[in-house]
Amino acid sequence: MTLCLSRTVSYPGQLGAALSSRSAVDSWEEISVMDERNIPMRTYQVCNVMEAYQNNWLRTRHIARDGAQRVYIEIKFTLRDCNSLPGVPGTCKETFNMFYYESNNVNQWYIKESNYIKIDTIAADESFTQVDVGDRVMKLNTEVRDISNLSKKGFYLAFQDLGACIALVSVRVFYKKCPLTVLNLAQFPDTVTGGDSALVEVRGVCVNASEEFEAPRMYCSADGGWLVPIGRCVCQPGYEEQMDVCQPCKPGFYKASAADAYCAKCPPHSSSHLERASECVCEKGFHRAETDPRSMSCTRPPSAPENAISTVNETCVTLEWSPPRDTGGRGDITYSIHCRKCSGENGKCSSCGSGVHFVPRQFGLSAAMVMVTDLQPHSNYSFTIESLNGVSDLSPSPRAAVMVNVTTSQTVSVVLKERRSKDSVTLAWQGPDRPSGAIVEYEVIYYEKNQREQNYTVLKTRSNVMTVDGLKPGTTYVFRVRARTPGGYGSYGGEIELETNMLAIGDPNQSTILAVSIAGGIILLIFLVACFVVSGRHCGYIKAKQDPDEEKMHKTYIDPHTYEDPNKAVRDFAKEIEASSIRIERVIGAGEFGEVCSGRLRLQGKREIYVAIKSLKAGYSDKQRRDFLSEASIMGQFDHPNIIRLEGVVTRCKPVMIITEFMENGSLDTFLKKHDGQFTVIQLVGMLRGIASGMKYLSDMGYVHRDLAARNILVNSNLVCKVSDFGLSRVLEDDPEAAYTTRGGKIPIRWTSPEAIAYRKFTSASDVWSYGIVMWEVVSYGERPYWEMSNQDVIKAIDEGYRLPAPMDCPVVLHQLMLDCWENGRSERPKFDQIVSTLDGLIRNPTKSKPCIQTHTDQSRDIRNPLPSREDPTTPEFTVSTVEEWLEAIKMGQYKDNFSSAGYVTLDSCNQPNLSNPLVNEPISSMRAQCFTYFLIFFAS
Ligand code: AMP
Repeated sequence: MTLCLSRTVSYPGQLGAALSSRSAVDSWEEISVMDERNIPMRTYQVCNVMEAYQNNWLRTRHIARDGAQRVYIEIKFTLRDCNSLPGVPGTCKETFNMFYYESNNVNQWYIKESNYIKIDTIAADESFTQVDVGDRVMKLNTEVRDISNLSKKGFYLAFQDLGACIALVSVRVFYKKCPLTVLNLAQFPDTVTGGDSALVEVRGVCVNASEEFEAPRMYCSADGGWLVPIGRCVCQPGYEEQMDVCQPCKPGFYKASAADAYCAKCPPHSSSHLERASECVCEKGFHRAETDPRSMSCTRPPSAPENAISTVNETCVTLEWSPPRDTGGRGDITYSIHCRKCSGENGKCSSCGSGVHFVPRQFGLSAAMVMVTDLQPHSNYSFTIESLNGVSDLSPSPRAAVMVNVTTSQTVSVVLKERRSKDSVTLAWQGPDRPSGAIVEYEVIYYEKNQREQNYTVLKTRSNVMTVDGLKPGTTYVFRVRARTPGGYGSYGGEIELETNMLAIGDPNQSTILAVSIAGGIILLIFLVACFVVSGRHCGYIKAKQDPDEEKMHKTYIDPHTYEDPNKAVRDFAKEIEASSIRIERVIGAGEFGEVCSGRLRLQGKREIYVAIKSLKAGYSDKQRRDFLSEASIMGQFDHPNIIRLEGVVTRCKPVMIITEFMENGSLDTFLKKHDGQFTVIQLVGMLRGIASGMKYLSDMGYVHRDLAARNILVNSNLVCKVSDFGLSRVLEDDPEAAYTTRGGKIPIRWTSPEAIAYRKFTSASDVWSYGIVMWEVVSYGERPYWEMSNQDVIKAIDEGYRLPAPMDCPVVLHQLMLDCWENGRSERPKFDQIVSTLDGLIRNPTKSKPCIQTHTDQSRDIRNPLPSREDPTTPEFTVSTVEEWLEAIKMGQYKDNFSSAGYVTLDSCNQPNLSNPLVNEPISSMRAQCFTYFLIFFAS
């Protein structure tokens, strides 16, 4: 007999699994039966229910592991209900056991029973085998179990019957793989998932015709889904990306660099005739300079400069011209000057040689002007002005140029004598020895010594004497004279410095100046005083404007650091408690400064309460004491049901202690891990609502927490969550999650917003980001955000737009709210009051909390499009009319008696104003609002 084990293996990994025909069969028999559709099938059966002490084993042959660390086993079987078998004794069983044994030996004929490891006890679900007289109806049970952390070559499976009536129909053994995929032009191979929940990091390989832009990586999750793509490949030059492959550019198109996304049309005056061009070829007569970008049109040399004119000053010539009409399509025009000296007799010209100078330079001029100096007097010169651009050197055609011919001259002026008064100077001079033509006029230029740049005056005269008046008394002036002939200006004669005479005392002009100066001084003084007064007022105004804000800050949260004496802050905000009224009972945790214990506090006239007691360990420094007590100074300022309440401090005797309310369930992360999967969505939302409400209170107070995380939330016996862990030095010093950033500060990277990581911008909006992470921690029952990814990878992934996917069974609206909290733009994140309202809406309308079933396709959508659509269109509209129905809908049916005894039966009754309700100040408007509020009170108290 052969046990027919299905070889159908679930996508995508397959193990060569089959039960051996040599199976250890004792009481198990291989039998053919008909299935529901009357098709014959082979089963292994055992049914020794009439006898006690059964121990029947059925074993598979060796199943190769095939590299998988976690393997799933799906078994299909039928199991007879003992009651359906008439006359069976009490020893009849309705379960059987499944075992495995890891081994490198593929032909192990004997395995000791005690060497097997138990996978599970398998029971049938409600579908016990039905037996109708003469007509046997088979109902198949399907169960899936998994074994992980396999390391040997393979394993054997075994089934142990202890006295049940079983028919084993199929055993399917499979493992999961992340399927071969191409993302960001990188191919990731079929990858076998890791054991337990470990992510496997996989390096991608760039697809054909692409190259690495940044090393492509992804993580293969235990579920067979790909997570967090990092890095990417880009298409090589000449190729562009189309549907995950690199396609060659078509003729007429090109792509010059791998960094460019797409092929572009060839720029003007160029073309490409073949596919995959990385650049286009220039048309004839057009060129591309080496430094020209490939996207630039091909260009050609410019036309000649135009309208060239010369101005000759004796042996100096200024040449000016207009830019060429055709720039050749470029903006980088320059000019070069070529100088030739021509002899008068035969008109022969030769190069000017090095004695001639060009200002600013001879070649590569950018302005259309040059001055040529040190020419020989009374000589003929020919200047060629060439225009050039970046492709002139590539063009074989001669340069376009314009020519200018000039004749030099020589005219010198010499100042001979002068006469001075207090406000005028008279100059006389001699004309040049050998003027190059008749003198047309003289030009006198003068300026105050050392002031030439600012102010100079030019005067002209035909005579060789001039009186310059209107000068300042007692001031030195510089004078220069030059002559002009029809050939142009000569050069200036030497500078002559002359000082006008001083004013005599009592001179009316002098007293006027003095009077004007004094008056000016007084006016200036008045002006300055006025400015001072005005600016003083202005400061006063700004201050007045700031005051209300400052006042508001002081009415809200006060940073204990602002106290000169930190002990005063403790006195102001924390009550001193007598050590004798505290009874310490046991240690419950360890804080940064010492142990945390639970105990009781009995204050005079009050009932005894349970408290948590944090004590400061012996041998502390002053700073440690201050930092320790700062937590009390902060906590003592808060009064909210979702913020941990400070009972008081003990500072007058040692050890110094902080006493807070006791939270029976400890920190939220540990609590959730301990109760994995045990709460309804509404219960989880209730916890989140509490945290959001506490955070709203803190943000209204102007307090930024900076380390909001599930580990810093405490939970009491009623599942009420309270924000805790305040304090100054502790901000991140004592948090094991905090890591040093490149800027030196310690930050819990996984919980912190990008702007707080990048430049320490901690605000209530960065607290909202952390709150989103807390939501994810809560819905995933304390899973570590971003799993085992390194902090660096988390920062990178966030920067690239990746966001945590919805945890299992997470309602779409909740995940959307998380995504909203993780908006890159601070201002785009919701405020805590909006978060509270959204969660209230969710509790009131439970249909919205329909989970989003997560499949691998969903995950890959998360990766490619990190922000899925807001609404879940598949959620049907849902209405309830009674409180009972409503409670059933939110899986809280067990509380219906509490509601009815409190007078809430119909939803209308929930709206009756006479029912006392301390939370009615919450903005809840719907029919179910008050019931919901009652629910919250009931749930939270
Ligand atoms: P902490 O110094 O605040 O981080 O506290 C260390 C640990 O002591 C926490 O993780 C909690 O498990 C526990 N703990 C602190 N305060 C309380 C409290 N009020 N009620 C119960 N457990 C607490």
